[in-house]
Amino acid sequence: MKITFMIVFIVIFVIILILLALIYKFIFNINTMKENKENITKDLEKNFLSNITISNITIIDVYDNVEFNPKFKTGFGFACVVKLKNNTILFDTGSDSKILLTNLEIAGIKPEEIGIIVLSHIHGDHTGGLLGFLRRNSNVKVYVPVSFPSSFKKEIKATGAKVVNVTNFMKITEGIYSTGELGTWIKEQSLVINSDKGLIIITGCAHPGIVNIVKKVKELTNKNIYIVMGGFHHPPIEIVKEFKKLDVKKVAPSHCTGDEAINAFKKEYQEDFIKSGVGKIIVIK
Ligand SMILES: [Zn+2]
Ligand SMILES: [Zn+2]
Repeated sequence: MKITFMIVFIVIFVIILILLALIYKFIFNINTMKENKENITKDLEKNFLSNITISNITIIDVYDNVEFNPKFKTGFGFACVVKLKNNTILFDTGSDSKILLTNLEIAGIKPEEIGIIVLSHIHGDHTGGLLGFLRRNSNVKVYVPVSFPSSFKKEIKATGAKVVNVTNFMKITEGIYSTGELGTWIKEQSLVINSDKGLIIITGCAHPGIVNIVKKVKELTNKNIYIVMGGFHHPPIEIVKEFKKLDVKKVAPSHCTGDEAINAFKKEYQEDFIKSGVGKIIVIK
């Protein structure tokens, strides 16, 4: 009788323990689920285009092997400045800081007013001017594809500048985004401006393929493309039709696009073709 009572007691005790453990696990799960949900919402805000569009944007091509305004120096590579109401961004740096700084001066832009630098990819014709620029102004955040060599990131940090690693589509500042690191072999990020008139995409060399970049941006943002500018990396001329299919409103190709493709765009786009090159200024009101 006493033994039976003991067994029943132990069984009930074990069952209570199991129940307590299950209840604890259930509550813990709910909490982690809540935390995960909060993190996902935060990521969504950071990694997706917001509804806020911007106006009063001035884009100046300050480094290009394609000539536009003869007052500016040409040099192999690409860089452009995006002037906003309260921010000035430098996208790429060309290959030589002397040419870059000279052209910035001609454009009336002081290196000190630039607070953000975005580097498209590691090639010297886009990054060569960086360290010379940082000697003039290192009070900047430099957005680089996460795959950049750590030695290069160290060199940037040694000047006092901050390095921001970019992996996915992300907000840089109000209305300005990075596509995130795209491509497989040569990783590259492009700049996306959420203007009142639609998206403006600026590419460095477009190594992941210019059409792929435009498609990716459309897919990520679900918005119309107003202008695509920069280097398109010697595309075949059939690309012009693909641009039309993707409903790209205007184009401003330069740097590594090549004369053949530039002429094909000019022919097809007519008044929506923006002749670009060093010294070209595009104003979006
Ligand atoms: Zn390149
Ligand atoms: Zn290039």
